[in-house]
Amino acid sequence: MTTDLAEYRSGVRAWLADADIPTVPLDLDERFDVLRDWQRALFEAGGLGISWSKEAGGQGLSHLHQLAFAEELAYARAPMPIGLIGLDVVGPSIDEFGQQWQREELLPKLLSGEHIWCQGFSEPEAGSDLASLRTRAVLDGDEFVISGQKVWTSWAHKAQWCALLVRTDPAAHKHAGISYLLVDMSTPGITPKPLEQMTGDREFCEVFFDEVRVPRRNLVGELNGGWAVATHTLGIERAAYTLRRRVDYEVAFEDAVAALRDHGLPAPETGLGRRVRIAIGKAHVALKVLSAQTQKTVARLAAGEVPTPEDSVDKLLLNEVEQIVFGEIAELLGPYRAVEESRPLGLASDRWAHDHLYSRATSIYGGTSQIQRNIISERLLGLPRG
Ligand SMILES: Cc1cc2nc3c(=O)[nH]c(=O)nc-3n(C[C@H](O)[C@H](O)[C@H](O)COP(=O)(O)OP(=O)(O)OC[C@H]3O[C@@H](n4cnc5c(N)ncnc54)[C@H](O)[C@@H]3O)c2cc1C
Repeated sequence: MTTDLAEYRSGVRAWLADADIPTVPLDLDERFDVLRDWQRALFEAGGLGISWSKEAGGQGLSHLHQLAFAEELAYARAPMPIGLIGLDVVGPSIDEFGQQWQREELLPKLLSGEHIWCQGFSEPEAGSDLASLRTRAVLDGDEFVISGQKVWTSWAHKAQWCALLVRTDPAAHKHAGISYLLVDMSTPGITPKPLEQMTGDREFCEVFFDEVRVPRRNLVGELNGGWAVATHTLGIERAAYTLRRRVDYEVAFEDAVAALRDHGLPAPETGLGRRVRIAIGKAHVALKVLSAQTQKTVARLAAGEVPTPEDSVDKLLLNEVEQIVFGEIAELLGPYRAVEESRPLGLASDRWAHDHLYSRATSIYGGTSQIQRNIISERLLGLPRG
């Protein structure tokens, strides 16, 4: 792969033109299998871990290359791979803070999709206030013994590995007694129980840990130093995921507008005509704002300036934009479906419905919108704590 950005981009485009791009099934299990195969194909083509070190199985290129790949993928209407929690959330933290063996043995399999990862952070009593987590890990010789419960753990029932936050020093201040462990999900004593979301998917789980024994070598960073690693993971999640998703929203919105145009936009002076134009305008402006912010994000990632409180601006915008885009699409499709059922729009409406419902989760996962606003007001704007 060439490092010249324009040449790189046209190489990606040429590869995608010949690639066997899968259609994404609505059924969760089928979707998982199809997107895992797709991840392997992307990995083999050098399309994953683009900005990661070669030691970790990556390509050693820049964040701009990574963004170019994500853009070309979206323009080709190709789906994202399944292992995004590994790729965009926990993988970069293992690369940054992990031990040599963790980088060399675990990251290539994470990239190829051989190992799917989950993120065991939230607990029933620790979400926004994550540092109150109570899942305990006690050192017994060369092993940690873990007991407790996590919740909302996406893909825990499908994952081979989990990045788990545990309390290793209950006497210390709450941020100072946490460690970050890598846990093989086939270890005895782990029970994931899937929960149904409003999309109908059973994508996330409660996960119970009953005296689960994990080797000490699976620690990432220092013992009781897990909060620094967790902060990195959350920062990357907020910034890197935003980069990837922004292009998807643009393409989804373009497709919806094109389909409406093919169908014949209602005259501007009609009620429906006005509504459609307002919806298109709102979503268009929101996407432009997000796009401007992501230019800054690429520069921050390239300069190693993630995590910073500015990641919260990305996440907050992502939350707002996803809900505007998919909310507006539902608004646009809704009246058409009601009055013109006999003239299909040519869009897979179930997919729009699914994405609209899923967009409600964006203002919750990775830290809620209220929490992002707190961070922005206190740490970026210097306002007093509420
Ligand atoms: C689709 C989805 C996938 C997820 N996947 C994962 C995953 O893979 N791994 C994982 O660990 N977690 C995951 N989560 C969990 C997510 O990170 C938490 O739901 C989130 O951090 C909020 O925590 P909570 O649900 O406990 O809500 P709470 O923290 O109880 O918050 C409830 C409400 O109170 C508000 N609130 C709380 N504190 C404040 C405050 N100080 N100021 C103002 N408002 C406040 C919140 O904004 C929210 O509106 C996922 C969630 C969703 C929806």
